[in-house]
Amino acid sequence: MPRPGSAGLGDLAQPMLGNGGYDVTHWDLDLRFTDDLSAYGATTQVSARATQALSRFDLALVGGGVDAVTVDGLTATWTRTATELQITPPRAIQAGTPFRVAVTVHKPVVTVASVWTSRSVTPTIARQDDWVETSFQPSGARRLAAFADHPAQKAPAAITLTAPSRFNAIANGELVGSRRNTTTTTRTFRSAEPLAPELLQVIVGRFGVLRSAGPGGVRLRHVVPRGRARAVAPGLRIVSRGLAFLQARLGPLPLRQYGVVAAPVIAGGELESQGLTLLWGRGLTGQGLSWGYDGTIVHETAHEWFGNSVSPRRWTDLWLNEGHATYYELLWGDAQGELGLDRTMRQIYERRAGSLLARYGPLAAPHGSPWGPGLSPFSNLVYEVGALALYALRLEVGDDTFTRIERTWVARHRHGVAGTDDFIALAGEVAGRDLGPFLRPWLEGRTVPPMPGRPDWKPAARA
Ligand SMILES: [Zn+2]
Repeated sequence: MPRPGSAGLGDLAQPMLGNGGYDVTHWDLDLRFTDDLSAYGATTQVSARATQALSRFDLALVGGGVDAVTVDGLTATWTRTATELQITPPRAIQAGTPFRVAVTVHKPVVTVASVWTSRSVTPTIARQDDWVETSFQPSGARRLAAFADHPAQKAPAAITLTAPSRFNAIANGELVGSRRNTTTTTRTFRSAEPLAPELLQVIVGRFGVLRSAGPGGVRLRHVVPRGRARAVAPGLRIVSRGLAFLQARLGPLPLRQYGVVAAPVIAGGELESQGLTLLWGRGLTGQGLSWGYDGTIVHETAHEWFGNSVSPRRWTDLWLNEGHATYYELLWGDAQGELGLDRTMRQIYERRAGSLLARYGPLAAPHGSPWGPGLSPFSNLVYEVGALALYALRLEVGDDTFTRIERTWVARHRHGVAGTDDFIALAGEVAGRDLGPFLRPWLEGRTVPPMPGRPDWKPAARA
């Protein structure tokens, strides 16, 4: 008996994100900007396979106007809630059957200023003057267009951008086609690797693309606004050094091509958009590096392994993204002689971990973010205590075993989806003993466990 697919995946941190009843096998986004970049039309085509007989199913969509919805080319009926587009196909979809849904919407591009001044505007697609960028984590893609907007539903993707020909445009993946129309240019990018909508990046503006060979056979592709190549060269050199540093510890980058965007403005913070990391252009200058921006560069690059290639099963697994990225950021700082890893870890352990756990914990079930609406899982907890838990694991199992755990984790779940229980199981398998009794207090408790081998470290008495 066909029945509706669930409206969300039941993610504790983001209950309405993602959609049940089908697996996404490919998605396709076609974005068409107006001449002044103030608005766009977008068509998403989601190819999926039904995991149950479906009388109805959802995609996520917030705001904008819906122009058309089809399922396998036939007009479908639809209704909307604040966050969901509920689609009823002309006939029920049988379990196991592939189908394709296409949704066309139109929306304005919000200004960067409105993102900054309004607490109600969450990151999405934003514009300042002749520059457009996107920032979607964790739930902004549904503000751009209709998506199955959850990292566990990532899939290979194609992104087609049509923008006025006086601008350049770029997205994740490889450029596979470019066509000049009367006043616009259409470019198509293809990501053979699965791409989560939250990691989509779209840049339109006056920029050049700097290509070169990077470490480990990676092809570099950086997006640099016109006239800024010399200024951001120091930061781009750190990108290469950071890539080499991370590959030496983690194995090959999971992508053949990597680059950063030296953005003139950041609407919603730096973002590890896949293969095309959004960074603040000024941070990449000599002055920015003197402020310590190199750590941010390495942090965001580390996400290509942790968060992008190995996607969180649920947003409650966010510590696996941010804890790892922060750990390798600190390890990089340590190797540069900038700040000692042990000293930083001790400070977090003694001064901050207790209050962060009490306020936003447990680590693998975070809640109550100060940064986002509702139950956003983002807070200092997942960054700082996430890194601390990994550091504790390293002290518990020793450097060699820890390195093998890390390398096995990113290799086994390459371009996959994995969660906290998977990490505990894999760590135990590599170490040759059950690490649940050690890791679970760190991940599931709200107080600070003892630090192995550091009996003199004392968390603050007050939580
Ligand atoms: Zn991060």
